[in-house]
This record gives sequence, C-alpha cells and structure tokens, in this order.
Amino acid sequence: MDHIKGCERDQSQLLPARVDDYVHAENPVRFIDAFVDELNLSVAGFGRVQPKETGRPGYDPADLLKLYIYGYLNRVRSSRRLETETQRNLEVIWLLRGLRPDFKTIADFRRDNRAAFKAVFQEFVLLCRKLNLYGRELVAVDGTRLKAVNSRDRNFTREKLAKFLRDADERLADYLERLDRTDAEEGPASSARVKTLAAKITSLKQRRIRYTALQAEMERTGESQVSLTDPDSRAMATHPKVGVGYNAQVAVDSKNKLIVAFEVTNAGSDLGLLAQTATAAKEALGVETIQAVADRGYYKGEDIQACEDAGIEAYVARPQRGSAVHGGFFRKDEFTYDPSTDTYACPGGHLLHPLYRSTKDGTERHHYVNRHACRECELRPQCTSGTSRKVTRWTGEAVLERMEQRLAARPGILDVRRETVEHPFGSIKQWMNQGAFLMRGLEKVRAEFSLTALAYNMTRAINLVGVQGLMRAV
Ligand code: SF4
Repeated sequence: MDHIKGCERDQSQLLPARVDDYVHAENPVRFIDAFVDELNLSVAGFGRVQPKETGRPGYDPADLLKLYIYGYLNRVRSSRRLETETQRNLEVIWLLRGLRPDFKTIADFRRDNRAAFKAVFQEFVLLCRKLNLYGRELVAVDGTRLKAVNSRDRNFTREKLAKFLRDADERLADYLERLDRTDAEEGPASSARVKTLAAKITSLKQRRIRYTALQAEMERTGESQVSLTDPDSRAMATHPKVGVGYNAQVAVDSKNKLIVAFEVTNAGSDLGLLAQTATAAKEALGVETIQAVADRGYYKGEDIQACEDAGIEAYVARPQRGSAVHGGFFRKDEFTYDPSTDTYACPGGHLLHPLYRSTKDGTERHHYVNRHACRECELRPQCTSGTSRKVTRWTGEAVLERMEQRLAARPGILDVRRETVEHPFGSIKQWMNQGAFLMRGLEKVRAEFSLTALAYNMTRAINLVGVQGLMRAV
C-alpha cells in the first residue's frame, strides 16, 4: 500500500470559484470582519476614518485593524510578516478582500493609532458582557513582566553608572601607565601596542563622557535608572529572566478566565497597583461592588483602603515581612488587637499600650509597648532582641483586619486567584514569543498589549460560544 498522495501540480482542477467558499462558517475571520464592521472607529480614536476629498486614496482603518486582530490571534505580530500573510494566506485574502498593504503602511497604522486599540479591547469586553461570559463577582489581579526592546547592557541604575565610572578611571590609569612603559620601548611590536592602547583609551574616554552625561541627567530628573534603547522600559529587578521590560497588570474574571481590564506600567513591583486595576475592572463590568483577589505582592494598607473606598472587597494574603520575622521573633499577627481598649495582647498574655506616635510616608502610626512586662518576661528571647517589644499600628489598620477576617472565612479564594490568572498569563507569554514586546515606548507597548489581550479574550470567547454565537451578539 502506498502513502496518500496529493494531485499533480500541472493537473487542471475545478477549484471553488469564490474566495468565500474557502472560509467556513466557524472560521474566526468571519467574526473579526463582523466585529470590526460594527465598531465606531472615529469614537474609538482611529484616524483617517473619513477618506480625504483629494489625493491618493488610503486604506480604510477598518481593514488594517482586521489585519492586526487576525495577526495577533494567529501569533503574527510583525508588520513584515503581516504583509507576507496578505499575499499567501487565503483567510487574510478573504478578510481584506485581496488588499495588500505594504509593511510600512501596516506598521504606521499601529504606531499612529496606538491609543485607540484599548477602546477596541473594551468593546469586546462589552460584547462578552452581553453574552454573560463574565461572572462580575470576583476578579483576580496579577502582574506579568514582559521584555522590552532593551538589553540589560543598555539599562543603567545610578549604582551601575557609578561603578562603571570608578572602573573606567582605574582602567584608564592602568592603560596610561602601560602606554608610558610601552612608549619607552623601541621596535615595531612596541609601536603596534602603543596604537592598540591609544585606541582603547580613546574609546573608554568617549564612553566615560557619555556615561557622565547620563549620570548628570539622572541627577537632574531624579530618575533612578535610565534605558537607552527604549527609554520608558525599566529593569525588573525581581524578574531576572525578563531583565529590562514592562509590568502588565491584568484583572481576570473568575467565571471564564476572561480579561476584564489591564494596564501596562514600568513599575518594578506590584505594590500599590491593586486599586487602580480593580477599579478599572469594576467599571468595565458595570457593577457597584466587586471582589478582587491578589497575591501578597499587593499587600499595602493604603491600597486596600482605596479598594474599600471604591467598593472593592479586597482579598490579599498578608506577607510575612519586617524585622521581627527576619529576626525569628513572634510575628505581629501573633499579637491580638482590641479596639475597645486600644491595646494589643501579646503571646505572653500581657497588654501593650500606645506609647507614642510617628509619621512615615505621610501616614500616622501608633507604637504599643509594655516595658515593665517585657523586663520580667520569660518569652523575651522569642520576642525581641532589645529590652522590650514594640508593635506598630497604622491608623487605618482596621481595614487590614477586616480583610484578614474575610480571608479566614474564605481560605480557598487564594487558590481561585492562582487558577484564574495562570491561564491568561501562560497564553499571553506564548503568544508574545515568551513575553517580548516588539515596539518601544509605554504608549506603543500598551497598544501591543491591547491587541494581545483582545486576541486572548477572542480565542477564549470562541472556545466558549463559537464563532456563530459571537456573531449573533455583534
Ligand atoms: S517580651 Fe513583652 S511583648 Fe513579648 S511576650 Fe514577653 S511581655 Fe509580651
């Protein structure tokens, strides 16, 4: 028996006469086409929606948007590869009705309309709401770090610059000394070495001048680091695999793991970013209140307070940090606060009273102590390295205690968080070629991420209700 064979290439065939016959009813391009056709691109912020009265006609932004959505849905993100697809891919030929914009036109469209892509993502969220794909009760908030177009070698912190300048001075002194020594020798070998050393000195001096200027610029602007290729990107210190990149904050609805809202920032940590992401999710879902769960990297009193003020019920596990934890002493959560007496009960059974107040980062803190009890206490070696233990309380700490009680009542909610965010983050990194942006600058990478998040949601929604189900809702 032989293998299955294709037909001969020079054989005449009766292929379907219409391009439409090659695109079946459940093909996602049919939905992309219908979805974009229903969008009000002017309101979304796209330019050139109305064709010019005079001059050479340009491409309809709707066609270029369709091409980008198709590309991101199929992991084709570069403008050159998209151009290639317009020439060889039947689905794209169907979608663009045979139009073949060149890569520059495609790239310019994404660059010029970078602020408008988020509105397209939000329109798709509304469509998913119409289909009841969002539970609208619980969102998981998390951040993922994505590489920027900026190598580690082209990112400098103040410390890195200072170290380079110190090393450069040492190397310059060494080169100059070797130059003097070699200069005194005679012969062709010595003159070649002199030339090599002189070239090294010139190059090092030029770099020194450049880096001194960078240092002065950082002093002037107050920035803690500078990136040379993509000036908006930042070193993600806690994510060595990413190196220099961006921090994409995402709120994912727990019902179907669909993304509700996102924001791309260059903040190195997630601390302080919960309220803004959860508020955006709450608005996108059109609800009065919502629950938001996040990992301990988001544990910040003021941020949890901001959530509560905005009608968001936050669930964030308390991280074990602080000098007592590092020293191996009783943790703060082993002391019980009593609001009726404004005292803390310590593990030794004594009461700690407020002794004095202080202000840190604009917030007031009270410090609770019982020096007399500590002096006599047998547990002191487990409690402090000093003569008495001090417990500090932020004036708004009741908000954290309320959250602790909620968490105690729903211990499984932290597992829901992990299950909810893992799926989109895994898919996004795969789509984005291990999580690397193609463009430079915060605004442009936001546009890229809008398309990625839209592609993720679209794929998920197609899996849930099918292309026809989505098309009926358009
Ligand atoms: S050292 Fe002080 S605070 Fe610690 S258990 Fe003993 S009495 Fe309580």
